Amino acid sequence: MTTRLYTHPVFLEHLTPPGHPERPDRLRAIERVLDDEAFSALDRVEAPEGDEATILYAHPEDFVGRVRAAIPETGIVSIDADTSASPKSWLAAVTAIGAANAAVDDVFEGRAANVFVAARPPGHHAEKATAMGFCLFNTAAIAARYAQEKHLAERVAIVDWDVHHGNGTQDIFWDDPSVLYCSTHQMPLYPGTGAKSETGAGNIVNAPLAPSTGSDTFRDAFLSRVLPSIDAFQPDLIIISAGFDAHHRDPLAAINLTEDDFDWATGQLMERAGRHSGNRLVSLLEGGYDLQGLAFSVAAHVGRLMKG
Ligand SMILES: [Zn+2]
Repeated sequence: MTTRLYTHPVFLEHLTPPGHPERPDRLRAIERVLDDEAFSALDRVEAPEGDEATILYAHPEDFVGRVRAAIPETGIVSIDADTSASPKSWLAAVTAIGAANAAVDDVFEGRAANVFVAARPPGHHAEKATAMGFCLFNTAAIAARYAQEKHLAERVAIVDWDVHHGNGTQDIFWDDPSVLYCSTHQMPLYPGTGAKSETGAGNIVNAPLAPSTGSDTFRDAFLSRVLPSIDAFQPDLIIISAGFDAHHRDPLAAINLTEDDFDWATGQLMERAGRHSGNRLVSLLEGGYDLQGLAFSVAAHVGRLMKG
């Protein structure tokens, strides 16, 4: 069984203002590093068109309509202080959802051992009815609910190691014990949520990391909070909200992880997926804003996924 990679040219056409960290070059850097011969065994598939109806798994219809109405015919419009949309942003966001849902299909139907989706815009800050933090729709949340609707998954775990707290994913599953949300993130940092005391229906596990900490603190949070929560929950599927902005080179945060940490965390989650989830593991790109840190971290992550 192979590791599948979904991407699509339209992900380069979601445009942000000049100087914005969440930019198309991020995906170009990932594409370059995965071009290496070491990744020749990757099963590369163009992301399919998304089913817009699945957006409603995580967002109310009037909000979806508001986002659609905000998409400009030309230029770039601001959705909030740091979130914007360009003419192709709708198609990019819906295709990201299509890729994530297809990845769920792949792991449930045995077409891939695991899948990495290299898409943008990211998703984990999008709350039920608020687009924010570079995110329009919450791709990971939609994919989790899609697994429940289409494949009758009873329990889905979302593990979010992006350096920012996934306030959107927490908001969507706040009172839904069928989805476990575990997050490691720098605190204090945008968006300000993610305290240990935020536990939802007992299904929210936040592991905040102090600024300037690194590998030891991250791995300890994983070993002491994230992994035991997964073991207790016994998910049918693990989804990773894979942001790589906890890398030491990243300009938006002050956590000092290296590529080796992402390799290690990937291996830990693969081991848990083997133990509880029939190996089913889907990884979705979130943040990561230093092009070299991002590319090397994705290489470590995907390389580990490919080891099976
Ligand atoms: Zn982030």
